[in-house]
Parts: sequence; C-alpha cells; structure tokens
Amino acid sequence: MENSKSKSALQPTSVSGDEVTSMPYTMEIVWSKVVFYIYLHLTALYGFYLCFTSAALTATLIWASLLYLFGGFGIAGGAHKLWCHRAFKANLPLRVLIAVAQTVAHQGDIYTWSWEHRVHHKFSDTDADPYNSRRGFFFSHIGWMMCQKHPEFTRMEKTIDVGDLLQDPVVVFQRKYYTSLAWMLCYAMPAAVPWYFWGESLTTAFFVASMFRYVFTLHATWLTNSAGHSWGKRPYDKQINPSDSLLAASFSLGEWHNYHHAFPGDYRVAELGSSRTSFHVVVIDFFAWLGLVYDRKTVRGKVVRGRVLRTGDGTHSFALKDCPFNSGDIKDHSVVDDEI
Ligand SMILES: [Zn+2]
Ligand SMILES: [Zn+2]
Repeated sequence: MENSKSKSALQPTSVSGDEVTSMPYTMEIVWSKVVFYIYLHLTALYGFYLCFTSAALTATLIWASLLYLFGGFGIAGGAHKLWCHRAFKANLPLRVLIAVAQTVAHQGDIYTWSWEHRVHHKFSDTDADPYNSRRGFFFSHIGWMMCQKHPEFTRMEKTIDVGDLLQDPVVVFQRKYYTSLAWMLCYAMPAAVPWYFWGESLTTAFFVASMFRYVFTLHATWLTNSAGHSWGKRPYDKQINPSDSLLAASFSLGEWHNYHHAFPGDYRVAELGSSRTSFHVVVIDFFAWLGLVYDRKTVRGKVVRGRVLRTGDGTHSFALKDCPFNSGDIKDHSVVDDEI
C-alpha cells in the first residue's frame, strides 16, 4: 500500500479530560484508498444517471429505496443504538435480522463500527476521535477513511471496553464471515433480486441498487459526523461541536446529534416531545409492540430540561416554558440519566 506524506495544519486538539495529548503529527494519505473512493463514486454517479433515464425500472428504484431504509436502520438502529450504545435490547431472531441490515450497508462489521463510535463519543472532536471534526468538514465526512489513523486514536481506542460486544454470538458470527457476507448482501443480492424477480438488466440493477444505493447510504451516515458536528443549533449543550443539523437529521432519518451527544443512552436519539419523530424509533417501537424489543432506555424529561437550562444555547423551548416532555407511552422503558 503506497502512502505519501503531507503536512497537516491541525488545530490544537480539544482535550477530553487529561488523557488525550496533543503531539506533533504528520498526516499520511493512503492513496490506494483515495483511488478506491473515487472509483466507488464514479460507479454511484453512473447508477444515479440510470435512475433518471428509462434504463431503470420503477420497481428497481423502489427496491433501492427500501434497501436504503433497511441498511440505514441496520446502522442507526442496529450498530449505533442496539450494539454501540445498548439503548435497547432485542431478542435473537431480531438481532440476526438487524445484523443482516447492518451488513447490507457495508460500513464495517458491528464490532469495529461500535468500537470506533465509542471512541468517537469518549474523545469527541479530539485527535483520538476517528472522525474529529476539528480537522475540517471533509476529513470528518470522508477524509478520515483515506488517511492513516491518528496515533492518539490508535493509543486511546485500547482504553475502550468492547468486551460486551463479543458476548453476542450474532456479532461474533458476523465478524467472522464479514467479508463474504458483505459481498453477498451489499453488492450481489441487491442486484440479483431485480434481475431475477422483475427482469431488470443485471447491469442497471448493479449500478442502481448496489452501487448508487450503497454510496448514498454512506453519505447519509457520514453527514452525521460532518454536518452533525458543524452546522445547526445546540439546544442541549452549546459547548460541544455536535449540533442538531437538519441536513444530517434528514438523510439519517432522525438523528439529532447535539441531543445524542448530550444523552447517548437514549434510544430515540432525539427529543422533540414525541418518540415518533424518527424512522428508526418508529421501527424500534414497532418491534417492541411485537414483543421482539424490550428495555428501551430514555432520559427523564426533568433531566433534559435541566441540561437545556444549564448548558443549552437558548434555542430550545424548554428555556422559555415548562417541560412538555412525556415518555409515559413507553411501557417497558428504563431511565438513564446519562450525560457526557
Ligand atoms: Zn458525533
Ligand atoms: Zn452515538
């Protein structure tokens, strides 16, 4: 793998506690990954072009959209809420289904994804943060995958406890066979279904349902790390970079990031006076209704209100009037008054 070195003009790191140190650092670009991501986006652009010509059947476009929702839930509802933050619990058959969805999105196995995200939370926007937004929008969006990891990340990731993840046989199985599963579920299956069931051209099915859908889902996730740490209001904590970005929340279907960093254990990843404001929350609540999900964790309204009044930027309605927050419709929830 050929690397070339270029000087990085990093801003001083924001120290989390006194553990992350600021040290001289030379960014190393991994050019093979740069070429890979350029190639990936060219295939996606061709798929995008096919979406707007007569080449792609309507059924294929609907199929690609459903895969975006399915894979997106695998990331946001699965790797993020279920495994990384332990914000709710699910029985074995549902965990298998969610692991399939997470593999369709092909963003690394559950174990690795959750480990990196825990590092992101503990050392948010420091040199130990894998998608440190202080290194710029491009870096936090996609650039972090085209560079060698910062030595502070490599050092501090070892301090994160991920032993619980390996207690789940679903996580272990997916990790063991991840490469084969990802090729099958992210690329082959999305193209084969339209070709087999409604006679779509295999080429069109591949570029639309596999490549374009895959890259679109990637950017929807990445926007949380970039726009969700740059743009928008900070109703819960004005002292942190994570923001309630409308752009990020729109593509991620309801991930409000200032709230999430303030209360990472809340399965709703949002607080808008209703638990029905996120696609992923609707799905989780549906599975709870079926009896497949339990122990959904929420944060008490008074805790949210207290945080808003104490550290918010003044844009939240709680700063002006009494708390309308109500989680009484969630019968099985447990409360986590967690704050960063
Ligand atoms: Zn974040
Ligand atoms: Zn998170």
